Parts: sequence; C-alpha cells; structure tokens
Amino acid sequence: MLFTLRTTRAPASDLSYLLAKRPERVQSFALAFGQAVVFYPEVSDEACTAALVLDVDPVALVRKKGEARSLAQYVNDRPYAASSFLSVAIAQVFGSALQGRCRDRPELPDEALPLRAHLAVVACGGGSALLSRLFEPLGYAITAEPHPLDARHPEWGPGRYFSVTLEATKRVSELLSHLYVLIPVLDDEKHYWVGDDEVDKLVRHGGEWLPDHPERELITQRYLKHQKSLTREALGRLTAKETPDDPDEVEVAQGREEKTLERPLRLDDERRAAVVAALKAAGARRVLDLGCGEGKLLRALLEDRSFDKVVGVDVSHRALEVAADRLHLERLSPRQRERIGLLHGSLTYRDARLAGYDAAALVEVIEHLDPSRVPALERVVFEFARPPTVVLTTPNAEFNATFADLPAGRFRHKDHRFEWTRAEFEAWAAGVAARFGYAVSFAPVGAAHAVLGPPTQMAVFSRVDAEVAA
Ligand code: SAH
Repeated sequence: MLFTLRTTRAPASDLSYLLAKRPERVQSFALAFGQAVVFYPEVSDEACTAALVLDVDPVALVRKKGEARSLAQYVNDRPYAASSFLSVAIAQVFGSALQGRCRDRPELPDEALPLRAHLAVVACGGGSALLSRLFEPLGYAITAEPHPLDARHPEWGPGRYFSVTLEATKRVSELLSHLYVLIPVLDDEKHYWVGDDEVDKLVRHGGEWLPDHPERELITQRYLKHQKSLTREALGRLTAKETPDDPDEVEVAQGREEKTLERPLRLDDERRAAVVAALKAAGARRVLDLGCGEGKLLRALLEDRSFDKVVGVDVSHRALEVAADRLHLERLSPRQRERIGLLHGSLTYRDARLAGYDAAALVEVIEHLDPSRVPALERVVFEFARPPTVVLTTPNAEFNATFADLPAGRFRHKDHRFEWTRAEFEAWAAGVAARFGYAVSFAPVGAAHAVLGPPTQMAVFSRVDAEVAA
C-alpha cells in the first residue's frame, strides 16, 4: 500500500519539517499489523514528495486473532488497498502533522500549501461517484483511475479499486485528517471493533469540517460501522459543536470527575434533596430540569407523586441517551411515560418548548456556560420560559480551598468556565431578580465551613406577579 504527498511551494523541502521525518533517510516503523516505511523519492526547493509504504501482514493478523475461519482471512486486499490500516499508520507515523503541530517550525502547520496526495489503490464500492461526493465538497480536484475487475476480462467492467489523486491548497493537517476519516469510509470496513472511542476520534479529526459536509451522515454511519447509537451520538456531538456558543459537548465522563471530588461530602445527594424540597415548597407540579445531565434529579422527581410532569433539557445528546437509559423510558407504563420528557436543546437559545411550567431547576449548570453567554441564558429562562419558580445551584468558589486535591485557583471541574464566591453569586442573582421581576432568597447546601461557607450555594427565584396572584 503506497501513499505519497507532494508539495511545490518553495522551499518544498519544508514538507519534511511538517511531517517530522528527515528527507535524507529511509525510516521504518513497526506497527501492530505490519510495517510502515517513510522516504522521500523527490526533494528539492521546487518539489518535494514524501512516501509512506504500508506493509500489512495478513498472516500475522490471523495469528493474532487466534483462529482462522476462512481463506479470506489470508487472501484479501488488506496488504494492497488503502483501508483503516492506512488511517492508523497516518496517525502513528505522522501524528504531529495530523494534529497540526511542528516542533522545529511551529508556524508551518498553519500555512496552506499546494498539495497533491496520491493513493496507489483505494477500495471504493461506491465507485468514482462516491469519491467525488466525499472529496469535492472539501475542495479537492480528484482524479480516480479505475482498475478493471480482471485485466484478462475487460468485459467484466471495473471493479472496486481505483488509483486516486487529490489536489488542493490546504494545511497538511487538514489533508491528513480528511484522509484519516474518509479512507475507512470509502472502504466501508474496519479492521478493529468500533466503540465509544471511535466517536471521539471522529469528532477530533472531523470536528472542523464534517459538520458542514453534505455527506456527513453517510460518512458518520460508515465510519462507525453502521452502529446506530454511535452514529446518533457522533452526529449529535458534531452538530452541537456547530453553534458557536455551544458549551461544551460536555463529556458525560467529565461530569463524573466533579462528583468524585465532592463524593466524600455526599454533596450530590444533598443538593438533589435541597432542590426537590425547594420545588415542593413552591408547590410546583410541572417542572423543567434545565441541563439535566444523566437525569438523577429527573428520577427523584419522577418518584415523587407531587410532580405531574418532569422534563429534562440538555445540550449533550449523549447525556440525554444516558438519562433515557437510566430512567428505563422504554419500560415505563404509559401513565408514567406521560409524566416524563427529554428535550435536546441549548439554554442560550429562546425555546418555545420551555413555556408553561411551574418551575425550572438549574443544578450545577450555569458555571458550564461561557460568561458572555450567561445573559442569553438569563433571557431564555427568566424572560421567555418565565416559570413562577427557578431553583438554581452553583459551586461556592470560596469552599474550594478545603479540597486538598484541588490546586489553588482551579475549578472543581475541567469544563467549568467560572465559579462564583457567595458575594458574586448573590450580586448576580439579585440583578437578575430585579431585571426580570423576581424575588430571590438564598440557601446553603452541604456542611458549611465556618469561614468559607457551604460547598454549594442555591438561589430560589419567585416570580413577583405569580406571588401576587397566588
Ligand atoms: N444537572 C445535572 C448536570 C450538571 S452538569 C446534575 O446536577 O448532575 C452540566 C450539564 O449542563 C451538562 O449535562 C451539560 O451538557 C449541560 N449544559 C451545559 N451547557 C448547556 C446549554 N447551553 N444548554 C443546555 N444544557 C447545557
């Protein structure tokens, strides 16, 4: 399997810095499934070509799996055609170039260069039309030379193999990320099992360009080997990234990290109990859980008969999937099923679905927003959704000094954009209350430190006209 990359931007030998491979040497790399060799068939100021030869060892692959089931495991196109093996080789041999890093010439990766990539053999069942659909929207001029199915029988027509040349002016990291994702998509086969980390890889390498690609669904499906739940998750994360203020494509796993820090305090449970109590005290029956995450509060609310309708909202599709799972939505009786809803949405966009509830909870959510987006959330919650009661919790930054494992000045969670002291929180909440016509009261949550205060702070907002009406 041969892949070459050529540039003609003078001095063209800069390509060797970008790829972090010396031009005067032949270098080989041992990979799990064979051997990769990098060398430069051409180096001058005017033109430079790097070649990656990938030698996949199909016999060793079968041995590794331990059992040989068919001849096809020994005799196949893997050694010759570009496939997911080539993607892995690109990531391992040209890793820094793929990530857009260059130690010796840090400015180089940002420069778009006239590039020509050549793949000696590509397996593509979809024919040259699919090649065009995948590469042309990314700005490549593509030449695909079909190989006959059998040279002795031209009447059998073309097979699924092409020699492909792609030309464009691009950053090297862009071109490599396009190939990294699209080669396995063309081949529609992967040599390894795909799981959650494949979604991460797709978001990492495709995040910049895949959301706008007209074939993003096909690409995502094929990249994830047609696994529906992974495809849904990946598309959710990719399109969530599109909105400029989208927080976070928050990792469910990251949420757990904060909980680990706070676990000895049993703070998660205390917080939930405090929020449920505040909602009940306000007499709320129809409740929104805004930024519901994995849905623990939803479950507590569902278990309590005083709530008729409970709806969780989150920007993270993945979090909603976990929540649906945890709530056993599929197994609920129709009556119970009626009481619960899950909505995918961002709290920084006005959303008509949020109108008509008695109360909204925002538990440990606001600190995940970029400070510049907090005013948008204020309007969405307090001006448009405008429920009679809003219960909001957030960390008390002063308390962080008591966490031995948390370096000074750091937040409790990687994804927190800020954390407020008590004075800051109270000033913010008082301002919101005044601007939108609410009264606000504060309550500590968790065992308080004598000087630093409680670990969590809670504000309960009550709509002033609602109070009057009640
Ligand atoms: N309330 C839950 C989760 C807190 S983590 C709990 O207490 O366990 C913060 C949650 O807010 C994450 O699930 C994140 O996806 C969500 N989130 C962050 N920004 C958001 C936004 N703009 N719109 C909706 N949800 C958001």
